[in-house]
Amino acid sequence: MALIVQKYGGSSVRDTERIKKVAEHIVATRRAGHDVVVVVSAMGDTTDELLGLAGEVTGAPTPRELDMLLTSGERVSNALVAMAIQALGAPACSFSGSQAGVFTTAAHGRARIVDMDTTRVRQQLDRGAIVLIAGFQGVNRESGDITTLGRGGSDTTAIALAAALKADTCEIYTDVDGVYTADPRIVPNARLLEHISYETMQELAACGAKVLALRSVEYARRHGVPVHVRSSYNTRPGTMVSAAREVPTAERPSITGVAHDQSGAKITVTGLPDGPGPAAQVFRVVTGAESELDMAVRDTSHGADGRTELSFLVPADSRLPVVAALREHQEEIGFADISQDERIGKVSLVGTGMRSQPGVIAAFCETLAAAGVNIEIISTSEIRISAVCRAAQLGDAVRALHGAFGLGAPEGVAVAART
Ligand code: ADP
Ligand code: ASP
Ligand code: MG
Repeated sequence: MALIVQKYGGSSVRDTERIKKVAEHIVATRRAGHDVVVVVSAMGDTTDELLGLAGEVTGAPTPRELDMLLTSGERVSNALVAMAIQALGAPACSFSGSQAGVFTTAAHGRARIVDMDTTRVRQQLDRGAIVLIAGFQGVNRESGDITTLGRGGSDTTAIALAAALKADTCEIYTDVDGVYTADPRIVPNARLLEHISYETMQELAACGAKVLALRSVEYARRHGVPVHVRSSYNTRPGTMVSAAREVPTAERPSITGVAHDQSGAKITVTGLPDGPGPAAQVFRVVTGAESELDMAVRDTSHGADGRTELSFLVPADSRLPVVAALREHQEEIGFADISQDERIGKVSLVGTGMRSQPGVIAAFCETLAAAGVNIEIISTSEIRISAVCRAAQLGDAVRALHGAFGLGAPEGVAVAART
């Protein structure tokens, strides 16, 4: 008998018909003799709808109340799945994140799990129940306040539970058949990967492949949780995410996939004094505004005026607070102006052995040039090459790179499984 954690994403429980189907699958797993712990996301687009409601009431909802609001979505879906399971004659019990012992930092909207107390979950498993835990949420021990883990956070709840319970596997049920060489909604001949290492999956997720939330992959890697990504619409085998099967050779580049991300905004600080110091001041202010930061480039000045430019990406929802914080410090840092651009996208080629093979970078740039895509910022490392381009060209960029690096399946093999 195994202990299996199953997580169902929003589209997998978008209506009560789907909820009943999911309940049947959960009960079948239990009746096959396994202990089952389930994490369910909010139904369909509930989280976006709740955010929309908050936006209708105020332009600046407080983070605490936003978390109170958003966590309700997962409470609804988990209770409904529990009821559907009970209707099939199996014992089930649903918990909110705080009831299930998910303790987090205090940071509303992007809390991190710091501790898991699985006592109540274990008690329910011991009495033979299927246990459901509302994903994407926890509680801060000190304040007693409810928190959320950031978008896509139910993946992290599931993997953290699997680690804490020492589960045999964590199954992530979603609306595609597994992890592909690119988003199958953008690249029709994307190839399903049978296996992917934690490291490469982490890089794909960091570059925007939202099939698994980045934090969840980091957690799985740290705790060695075997993750199985598969469709909730069919029984195809899906993708296993686990430790690398073979040590990658740096001699030959090996490309796994192409990821894209349209969730960022580009900020450019112009007329920045050249010399040591100002870049650090800018980044300190960005960090103080509690924003993440990516793809930063600075070029020392060529002109006689001793001024330079600094560009970087921040998550689109941090754009306004970051710009406001920088403006507050404009005089002290001494820059001339700030420009901002939300219509950008980032495309990344992910694999191994890329820096040691300069030909890969040249081929990357040639491919984008042939597709008419202008590279606004480029950064390279051993395991990825990322370029910032116009958002409108992102799909073309992904398809061109996917084709040029021979990642596709033969025609007709890959099928995206959203029904
Ligand atoms: P869920 O609601 O189940 O959490 P998400 O929408 O968060 O599902 O993630 C699944 C989506 O991730 C897919 O529908 C697909 O469009 C997208 N995606 C992006 N990159 C990839 C990839 N490399 N492989 C599979 N899916 C991907
Ligand atoms: N419902 C949350 C979101 O839409 C969490 C999740 O689905 O994982 O981001
Ligand atoms: Mg998701």
